[in-house]
Amino acid sequence: MENVIIIGSGPAGMTAAIYAARADLNPLVAGGIQWGGLLMWTTEVENFPGFPGGIIGPELMSNMKKQAERFGAKFEFKDVTEVDFGSQPLKVKIAEQWHETKAVIVAAGTKPRTLKLPREKELIGRGLSVCATCDGAFFKDKEVIVLGGGDSAMEEATFLTKFAKRVRILMRGDEVRASKIMYQKAKDDPKIEIMFNTEVTEYLGDKLLEGVKIINNKTKEEGELEAQGLFFAIGHVPASKVFGNQLPTDEKGYLLKKEWSMSEVAGVFIAGDIEDWRYRQAVTAAGAGCMAAIDATRWLHQNGE
Ligand SMILES: Cc1cc2nc3c(=O)[nH]c(=O)nc-3n(C[C@H](O)[C@H](O)[C@H](O)COP(=O)(O)OP(=O)(O)OC[C@H]3O[C@@H](n4cnc5c(N)ncnc54)[C@H](O)[C@@H]3O)c2cc1C
Repeated sequence: MENVIIIGSGPAGMTAAIYAARADLNPLVAGGIQWGGLLMWTTEVENFPGFPGGIIGPELMSNMKKQAERFGAKFEFKDVTEVDFGSQPLKVKIAEQWHETKAVIVAAGTKPRTLKLPREKELIGRGLSVCATCDGAFFKDKEVIVLGGGDSAMEEATFLTKFAKRVRILMRGDEVRASKIMYQKAKDDPKIEIMFNTEVTEYLGDKLLEGVKIINNKTKEEGELEAQGLFFAIGHVPASKVFGNQLPTDEKGYLLKKEWSMSEVAGVFIAGDIEDWRYRQAVTAAGAGCMAAIDATRWLHQNGE
């Protein structure tokens, strides 16, 4: 029987692990197959307090992991595949193995949204990407597409001009959601072309992406674009599916807290981007992880632990 199982190893899960371990709860972290969370996909993190010169994302996450291990946190870098929060003890299935626990902290974050078109899974890493900072350098002198109309699309496109021959930003609508300054920067870049009302309908290419079929959703005109790289910048989906009907969510799938960081289910706490669609920062996720661990510790004490 565990005291607390923490689901997720991004800034929220890692901070919860540091606090729970320092409270002598000996937490088990089900850190996910992709350990470290979203910061593993970035290079320089310039706004996490304590690093005046910035810090590389994976290095920050590795430091957090070492800090949690120092106080006794245990890690399993596997995905939670099922949970049963119907009664105490709570049950969490990590890969194929069921575990019993008194408390759970859910910090499973979000996943980047993609188009869900046929052959998408096989082309991820073969032209399709969710992270310009990670994969941009593979597209030197290539034709590249960025999907999206927000700040991240503008930022990714501007970054990709360092490598690509040309970057086309494809927006589904005709209104720019990005801030004026970010949009203007992209618009003024001679390597960037912006196409409005344009949707991708098919990926072209056999083993590697070679292009896409597109449609103008206003004129219904169809066409093809050459592209060796396509980057998704169309938002994130909360990783809450695995919690099924056990925890309430809003209409977009973000988990809902009931009191402080506790969910509707006694003993299940929530932290980070999986419930926070508003701020979505490493430091806010870390803060939420701290709060969830303190709430879990107090709840365990109140319940005789
Ligand atoms: C490219 C990029 C750059 C960014 N740069 C910055 C920045 O400079 N500064 C900043 O403050 N923020 C930045 N962010 C945002 C920041 O990364 C997030 O706000 C933060 O990582 C959220 O932390 P989290 O712990 O809630 O979730 P995540 O970091 O998403 O971590 C979630 C974890 O849960 C795991 N998980 C998911 N499902 C399961 C499951 N079923 N079982 C087990 N584990 C599971 C995942 O594998 C992952 O390890 C950036 C984001 C991206 C994508």
